[in-house]
Amino acid sequence: MDDCIFCKIIKGEIPSFKVYEDDQVFAFEDINPISPGHTLVIPKNHTENIWDISEQDLMAVQSASKKIARAIKEALKIDGIACMQLNGRAAHQEVMHYHLHLVPRKADGPPLPITSWKIKPGNMDEIKEHAEKIRAALK
Ligand code: 5GP
Ligand code: ZN
Repeated sequence: MDDCIFCKIIKGEIPSFKVYEDDQVFAFEDINPISPGHTLVIPKNHTENIWDISEQDLMAVQSASKKIARAIKEALKIDGIACMQLNGRAAHQEVMHYHLHLVPRKADGPPLPITSWKIKPGNMDEIKEHAEKIRAALK
């Protein structure tokens, strides 16, 4: 899809802090993180939502997310991870390329916003540092 920002990120046409890649999946840091280490896991095939995604891509995203979740926990010493995935405008999906949010949680953190969190740009140096730690824990 020519005008999809996540397809452009996969192709390297838009920069991202990548943490993981395999034949079917790409994962990178969210630039407006809900919490430090907020990561998006996406299929390389452009597909919009839970209704369209192939079972193979869905399984690949889930399988990669398990590895990445382990790395995030180890790298950032967090207590939990919320896996969130929104489908359709009614569910506040903003980017129409299927993506699974991995949102790290601390036991004493603020309440988790479910579908309507406030978009707040992150600090790029901090996001880069989190990506490097997660990447290192994936090795
Ligand atoms: P949605 O509401 O569709 O589930 O969430 C889309 C997510 O994509 C948001 O958390 C937003 O911060 C993130 N996002 C949007 N544009 C970009 C971008 O250009 N780069 C990165 N890294 N994340 C993005
Ligand atoms: Zn796309």
